[in-house]
Amino acid sequence: MALTGAGISAESGIPTFRGTDGIWNKLKPEELADFGAFLRNPELVSEWYKHRRQVTRVAKPNGAHLALVEMATLFPIFAVITQNIDNLHERAGSETVIELHGNIERNYCLGCGKRYDGEEFDKNGSFKCNECGGLIRPDIVWFGEMLPTDQWNAAEAAASEADIMFVVGTSAVVYPAANLPMTVKRNSGKIVEINTEETPLSEFADVSIQGPASEVLSEIVNGIKEFRRDAKK
Ligand code: NAD
Ligand code: ZN
Repeated sequence: MALTGAGISAESGIPTFRGTDGIWNKLKPEELADFGAFLRNPELVSEWYKHRRQVTRVAKPNGAHLALVEMATLFPIFAVITQNIDNLHERAGSETVIELHGNIERNYCLGCGKRYDGEEFDKNGSFKCNECGGLIRPDIVWFGEMLPTDQWNAAEAAASEADIMFVVGTSAVVYPAANLPMTVKRNSGKIVEINTEETPLSEFADVSIQGPASEVLSEIVNGIKEFRRDAKK
C-alpha cells in the first residue's frame, strides 16, 4: 500500500501546505480550511476552493501518481491511501483509492444535502444551493472535523494487513493519518518513506529515501520488475 500526502502532487505544480514553499507560509489556515471560517465568510472560502479546483484541474498526474498505478499491477492487492483532495490519483488511473480528507471535486448543500460536482458548481457561479438556498461546501475534511468513517476504517484495515507501506510526500504530522504507519509496524509490516526532506517518520521507517517522489517511485517500480525478470531466469 501507499500513503500519500501533498508532496506527491508537488511535481504537478500543486503547492504543499508545509515545507519551504508551503501554502500555510502565505495564508492563514484558520481563515480558510475551517467550518467556522466558512460560516463567517462563505464567499471567500468558496472562492478559495474554486481557485484550488482551477489549479488542480490544469495540473496533470506526474510520474509518481503513474508509478503507483503500475505498482498496483505488480502485487495481488495494492491500495492507495491519500490525504490529498486533488483527485490526481483517480485521474492517473489508480483503482483502489481511499480518500482520508475528501475530494474538492465533490460538494454538497448544508441545507438539503444536494450534491454538486466541481464543474457544475463552478458554472453555477453561486455558493448557494439552487434548490434551497443553503450554503454549498466542499466534501473535504477541515481542521477539527472527523475523517469519513468508511474511509478511515478501510485505511486501518489495509494498514493492519500490509506487508509494506510506501509513505510518499507527507510530513507525517497530521493525525490520525500519521498513525497508519504505526499500525503497519505493529502488524510486522515494513515502512519505506519517500520524501525530499527528513520527517518525524524518518527515524522510525525501515528505509527512508530522500528524493523527488516521481524519480524514486519510478526507480522502485523498475527495480521490482527487474528483480522479477531475474528471478524467472
Ligand atoms: P504537507 O504539505 O504537510 O507535507 C508535504 C511533504 O511533501 C513535506 O514533507 C515535503 O518535504 C514533501 N515533498 C515536497 N515535494 C516533494 C516531492 N517532489 N517528492 C516527495 N516529497 C515531497 O502535506 P501532508 O502531509 O499531506 O499534509 C496534510 C494536509 O495537507 C492534508 O490534509 C491534505 O489534505 C492537505 N493538502 C493537500 C493538497 C493536495 O490535495 N494536493 C495540497 C496541499 C495540502
Ligand atoms: Zn440545498
